Amino acid sequence: MSNVSVIGLGIMGLPMAIHLVKAGHTVTGFNRSPARVDALIKAGGLGASSVAEATRGAEVVITMLPDSPDVEGVVSGPEGVFVNAASGTLWIDASTIRPDIAKRLAADAADAGLRALDAPVSGGEQGAIDGVLSIMVGGDPADFESAQDVLRALGKTIVHVGPTGSGQTVKAANQLIVAVNIEVLAEAIVFLEAHGVDLDAALTVLGGGLAGSKVLEQKGKKMVTRNFEPGFRLALHHKDLGIVTAASREAGVFIPLGAAVAQLVAATVNKGDGALDHSALFKQVLQLSGRE
Ligand code: NAD
Repeated sequence: MSNVSVIGLGIMGLPMAIHLVKAGHTVTGFNRSPARVDALIKAGGLGASSVAEATRGAEVVITMLPDSPDVEGVVSGPEGVFVNAASGTLWIDASTIRPDIAKRLAADAADAGLRALDAPVSGGEQGAIDGVLSIMVGGDPADFESAQDVLRALGKTIVHVGPTGSGQTVKAANQLIVAVNIEVLAEAIVFLEAHGVDLDAALTVLGGGLAGSKVLEQKGKKMVTRNFEPGFRLALHHKDLGIVTAASREAGVFIPLGAAVAQLVAATVNKGDGALDHSALFKQVLQLSGRE
């Protein structure tokens, strides 16, 4: 069992840290708002009052932060992870960030004597709470092997997908698939509502056929009941669609549906709905049909 630090105890980071406690690791948490650290302490973890304090003495440091600048801010500089970690510490970034930044930060980590994996996750808040995340890992295969005890406490499908940055590239594809799925699910529900169909019955039968999906399972009811309390904030999905559109352009690849959905997500965020769950894309679809 290892000394593991988790920096960023939000919707995902806190339940992930709690699973590590349950697996027997000594887990120290740090978060910008201290209430989340208190929640980890209640669950059997330890609290730190700075990134530097969380990092010192850790064998594994996990970051679970919103965006690329947040991760860069936490790992760099005199108070950051790279300066304060012992040589050989394994840094696992589970946040979803730009693949090019992930590569640059992994190189900086190596210069500082650390080992780095990009290990973004999929499965949503429920997947984190249940400890069944899908984890796509980029980095050195030996470092991937040495992370197994930690990663197995968090997820069920844990796959090494290639060198540094590859985890983030696969995660960008994941976010493209999920966003387009949410958009078409929203369109189908608005269509069914307009025809006065029994929505529970419709979603049950659709879920058993080729139209079935995890998105339908987890997001269908939220749309029907207009419950947009966040599991995954729309503003974060907007960030991810920025990553996938930029990375597609860089590779000379065209994603017309993804680009259209990225615009719809951007417009919904711009209207002030960024703090809602990404299923709130449904509101935009309703509005397009004048059915608010
Ligand atoms: P969140 O906003 O709920 O959590 C982020 C946490 O980081 C917050 O508690 C915040 O206080 C903390 N934080 C921000 N800056 C900090 C700093 N400088 N120092 C310390 N703490 C800081 O976000 P989340 O939903 O947990 O998502 C985290 C990452 O995981 C994102 O990159 C997101 O895209 C990705 N992700 C989220 C989900 C999901 O369903 N929520 C699923 C898969 C991946």
